[in-house]
Amino acid sequence: MMPPICAVCRSRPERDSTRWGGFDVVYFRPTVEYPDDWAGHPENAEWFCPTHLPLTEGLTDLTANEALKRIMARASSRSDEQTHDVQTHGAQPHGDQPR
Ligand SMILES: [Zn+2]
Repeated sequence: MMPPICAVCRSRPERDSTRWGGFDVVYFRPTVEYPDDWAGHPENAEWFCPTHLPLTEGLTDLTANEALKRIMARASSRSDEQTHDVQTHGAQPHGDQPR
C-alpha cells in the first residue's frame, strides 16, 4: 500500500490517529489482475482527502484513469461555487490546509 496522498490535491494527512485524518482509499474498476501473493498498491486504488473523497461518488465503475479525469473536473468546477451538500464522513472538514 502506498502512503496516503490525495490523488487530487496531493495533500497528506497528519499521522496522529489510527485513521489517516479522514483520508480513505477508493477502489475503481480494476484493469490489471494480480496474483494472490502480490502485495503492492493496486493500480485501481487511489487515496483521497476528506475534501475530495465525495467527488469519487458514482465513479467507481470507471477505471482509475477515467475517474480521476472526472474527479479533477469536478474539483475545479466545485471550487467556483459554494458547496452546500458536502459530506464529511465524520472527519474534520479542513484536513488539507495549504502550507
Ligand atoms: Zn484532496
